[in-house]
Amino acid sequence: MDSHAPLGKVFLVGAGPGDPGLLTLRGAECLAQADLVLYDYLVNPAVLGHAPPPAELVSLGHPHGGRGMSQEEVQRRMIAAARQGKTVVRLKSGDPYLFGRGAEEVEALRAAGIPCEVVPGVTAALAAASHAGVPLTHRDRASAVALVTGHRRSDPSAGPELDYESLARFPGTLVFYMAVTSAPQWSAALLRGGRPADTPVAIVRRATWPDQEVVRSTLAEVAAVIQQRQFRPPAIIVVGEVAGAEKPKIPNLKSQTISNDQRHE
Ligand code: SAH
Repeated sequence: MDSHAPLGKVFLVGAGPGDPGLLTLRGAECLAQADLVLYDYLVNPAVLGHAPPPAELVSLGHPHGGRGMSQEEVQRRMIAAARQGKTVVRLKSGDPYLFGRGAEEVEALRAAGIPCEVVPGVTAALAAASHAGVPLTHRDRASAVALVTGHRRSDPSAGPELDYESLARFPGTLVFYMAVTSAPQWSAALLRGGRPADTPVAIVRRATWPDQEVVRSTLAEVAAVIQQRQFRPPAIIVVGEVAGAEKPKIPNLKSQTISNDQRHE
């Protein structure tokens, strides 16, 4: 390492949910200056077109896929490149600070004295909601939104599990990330906490990608629907009145689609 080389910089850039049009202009500007791009498995490779041809493009693979780079390796690699004077873009799906380990990376960069900038991105919850026609807040139905992870900790000593009793009482919309395989557990916990069984649910898989899927269900049935349809991640699951039909008070709201006749009853 040349200790006299000026330090480079690391940009943690949110790539958005998939549609390359949802990258921010600032994100595109950062990519245009990149010498090295490290990108997550959920990032649409079309976004990489903003990087100049000599830039080195490195896919980090699936974090649980066995072949992915470890978090420590990613951090080491960013720091080493910045010390060589390189401009590094760490491209993350959605927003870097939402369930993306952005905080850990910024901490490691700061500790190493590397300049860094975080560029926000369109997080999956917002993209899923707008593309599925689900308003996360609504004058009459939801004045608050909680973004929640359904991912269960493999190491329980790392911190407490979510307090589902409080979440069940949350007065607004719940939006779950990483919650497909854990649906039986979190839906049962919300029901035990008193959230009504007929609370509307919308599952949005691969929001903004050409193969996006949207399925509507209820809290009581969401786990069964996921199993029947063999839904795989990535998906956002919206729980709350806003995920239902246009009129909230239709009794026995079980069907996936609401006919116009029912809507105007
Ligand atoms: N930082 C990202 C979240 C990464 S965690 C963000 O802000 O969006 C990975 C989870 O994000 C997935 O398990 C899924 O719940 C959600 N996700 C990411 N992209 C998605 C997409 N296009 N459609 C639906 N869910 C998505």
